Amino acid sequence: MTSRAPRSPVWHPFTQHAIAPAPIEIAGAQGAYLRTPEGDLILDAISSWWVVTHGHCHPRIVAAIREQAEKLDQVIFAGFTHEPAEKLARALVEMAPPGLAHVFYSDSGSTAVEVALKMALGYWRNTGAPRTRVVALEHAYHGDTVGTMSAGARGVFNASYEPLLFDVTRVPFPAAGGEQETLDALEAACKAEPVAALIVEPLILGAGGMLVWKSETLAEMRRICDRYDVLLIADEVMTGWGRTGTLFACEQAGVTPDILCLAKGLTGGHLPLAATLSSEAIFQAHYSQDRAKTFFHSSSYTANPIACAAGLANIAIWRDEPVLERIAKLTSMHERRLAQFGTDETFASVRQCGTIAALDLKVEDAGYLANAGPRLMEFFLNKGILMRPLGNTIYVMAPYCVTPEQLDTVYSAIGAASAVVLSGGR
Ligand SMILES: *Cc1c(COP(=O)(O)O)cnc(C)c1O
Repeated sequence: MTSRAPRSPVWHPFTQHAIAPAPIEIAGAQGAYLRTPEGDLILDAISSWWVVTHGHCHPRIVAAIREQAEKLDQVIFAGFTHEPAEKLARALVEMAPPGLAHVFYSDSGSTAVEVALKMALGYWRNTGAPRTRVVALEHAYHGDTVGTMSAGARGVFNASYEPLLFDVTRVPFPAAGGEQETLDALEAACKAEPVAALIVEPLILGAGGMLVWKSETLAEMRRICDRYDVLLIADEVMTGWGRTGTLFACEQAGVTPDILCLAKGLTGGHLPLAATLSSEAIFQAHYSQDRAKTFFHSSSYTANPIACAAGLANIAIWRDEPVLERIAKLTSMHERRLAQFGTDETFASVRQCGTIAALDLKVEDAGYLANAGPRLMEFFLNKGILMRPLGNTIYVMAPYCVTPEQLDTVYSAIGAASAVVLSGGR
């Protein structure tokens, strides 16, 4: 059913070209579907790598992009500003947990986190008490740049770059029952030396395997950070914009981070844009007659007006449409369908965090490089569904417009997957 492109000069991300099948060409998209040039439809059950929230080519976002493109395409953002960036920043501050007062724009999740780490270290240096130690969770993923790889888990993905990575203190992932161990490790790290910042993916670790953890633990982490004067960085690049059931995951813990990283769903998944929100104190630490205290970061397309207009349209959708209701419905749809897998011997660790559902196929060779991953992906594609299991972890993260019927096709494919994949067939 799928069209495979001929040999091409394109070098694809996270792709071993020697063994990967040729990429599938996509010519269009609408709602929860991708469309090939031949007109075949593929259900986008992973929101095109977690970015598309409301659905592909949302008419309001598309209209905002079109309108803005005709007015102002791009302008340098140092010494200049524009309405879409100003309005979006105000809206973000209004929607974010209370206490976040400033918005720094960049263009991807990785840069949002990179900016967060630089803000944290800048804060400590500019306030005259330099701290550089970063604490992160085991299995964390924060991006693919050198700084964000440093904060993320080490493995086959970054082995070649290891000498470039800086050292961070890693605390255990707060798995159910192991929360206290994590909190104790965090406290021990804070006692051992001055810590600049703790960085976490609130409530669910994405690329690390869709690992779910409790909001109470996040609240407790905030208290420990306060006690030791440690900045809390919430990487909500994936969890933001409703994925966990609330607009931002931090809300469920009643926590305001000192720095909040947003990207992926910020434009509804239509254009690349990121925002790093900071507390007043962090901004003030850089606010000075001394030019050396400037926050030295920029990318060419910082606050691109068209991307900001898409972000504003996304926020208008959140304000005008019952998005949270849609998300609540999707959450209970997952609940109902996941229930059947709880007793299925071929799966383990059936779990959910809001609109994200995940379960592990029991295989002998677990881990990302497990054979199961690519075979599962191929299996789902042949059923017209885009899934990209993390090794043997199958997850569903569909756009919020997905219908119960569409979700049913995904879950019946998951049900059929184990027999087919484990037997080695298709
Ligand atoms: C995807 C992701 C990133 C990186 O975002 P990019 O836009 O791919 O650079 C960072 N942190 C988390 C938690 C993510 O899921």
